[in-house]
Amino acid sequence: MKHIIFWHRRDLRLFDNAGLFHALQAGLPVIPIFIFDKNILDKLPKNDLRVVFIHQMIEAMQQKLISLGSSMQVFYGNPKQVFEALLTKYEVEAVYTNADYEPYARQRDADIADVLQKKGVDFCVHKDHVICEKYEVLKDDQKPYTVFTPYKNKWLKTVTDDFFVQYDHEKVQKNYYKSEAVAIPSLTEMGFEAQNVVFAQPEINEKIIELYAQQRDFPAIKGTTRLSMHLRFGTVSVRQLAVVAKRLSETWLNELIWRDFYAMIIYHFPHSAQAAFRPAYDKIPWRDAPQDFALWCAGKTGYPLVDAGMRELNATGFMHNRVRMVVASFLTKHLLLDWRLGEAYFAQKLLDFELASNVGGWQWAAGSGCDAAPYFRVFNPMEQAKKFDAKGEYVRKWVPEIDGFGYVAPMVEHSFARNRAIDTYKKELSAG
Ligand code: FAD
Repeated sequence: MKHIIFWHRRDLRLFDNAGLFHALQAGLPVIPIFIFDKNILDKLPKNDLRVVFIHQMIEAMQQKLISLGSSMQVFYGNPKQVFEALLTKYEVEAVYTNADYEPYARQRDADIADVLQKKGVDFCVHKDHVICEKYEVLKDDQKPYTVFTPYKNKWLKTVTDDFFVQYDHEKVQKNYYKSEAVAIPSLTEMGFEAQNVVFAQPEINEKIIELYAQQRDFPAIKGTTRLSMHLRFGTVSVRQLAVVAKRLSETWLNELIWRDFYAMIIYHFPHSAQAAFRPAYDKIPWRDAPQDFALWCAGKTGYPLVDAGMRELNATGFMHNRVRMVVASFLTKHLLLDWRLGEAYFAQKLLDFELASNVGGWQWAAGSGCDAAPYFRVFNPMEQAKKFDAKGEYVRKWVPEIDGFGYVAPMVEHSFARNRAIDTYKKELSAG
């Protein structure tokens, strides 16, 4: 009996899932699988909450599949070996999945495509993670955009109703293969700590989206949707969100377009994951100052908004976007430390960590990325705090000692640091 395998990766949902829908529609019994990839997991700390999140979301999917008389097969291993074993066990007609645009994923998928091709098995990859992918929004000369605003304008001209289609699984879910419930490897079996945290399923709060343009910049209020982790792992459908955005908030739609933009950039310019998007910026002589980096990480710079942000990140795995921009600017400009240090620290701590958006955000802050603004944009952290946390509510929450005598003095004086950054950038970049 022939089967189709559907491979879940960053699409942990059984509804409005493009690749899964097409697999189920193809007419053969569909075996859903997920692989806890050792190549990724082995590099993570054993208390990593993102692994707990994935585990809980898979458990929820498993319950639903069991109710449909099926079951997901969940592996802990190396994807290539898992597929070799699956191809031995089942007669497989095709493997369906959704595209992932990051460099590691592309290499992994190329390896799997190779394994499948040798056995004559089709590999059908669908767009699901973004609204517009790789070659869908290009300049008139067919080259990728490197600046956001013209990209966004073309994006808006490109999308038709087809881009927002929502896949109704109701009629096709009878095509899951019939199976007894299969056990999921536990966190401890995979070497991770089981933790006392329960992650909720995503909530699309339309009130927040309606008021987004007015409220999004103020970290003390819940003015953004906090859907980033769900978008990262695909527990929510970006098409569904984009439909809501089109109805309620152009500004919020803009954020979803930024997300598409960075996914497109990492696809066309994979070097930007490790090196400056604009190569000239690789010449900036970043300071070698591990103690300064440690103060930044710990939220002890003496700049309240920077410290509040870093402490929020360390305590919760989240940081408000406005504050992400301020702390990133502070690291790369005030401290003149390599953006890659900050990027790696965020990668380790952010629950919503996504390579494309993280690298994009960091290179934007460092001035080395896809941005029309020149390097001399240096955020003034005190002015940012006055503007976006005027009553000091956010800062007081995370830096309570600010009202007493215990708060540290600024580790570097603002004007001095600003001038040092601008002079250094100018010198290196004008050298040609
Ligand atoms: P909302 O404001 O409600 O926005 C909705 C969604 O749009 C977000 O969930 C996110 O998926 C997307 N989005 C919003 N802003 C951006 C943006 N600037 N770029 C790309 N997508 C965006 N976002 C990540 O998802 N992962 C990261 O690793 C990440 N690292 C960042 C690093 C830096 C230095 C900066 C400046 C930004 C980074 N961002 C990252 C973008 C942004 O800060 C977060 O997406 C946002 O704060 C998440 O909160 P939210 O879900 O409430 O977003």
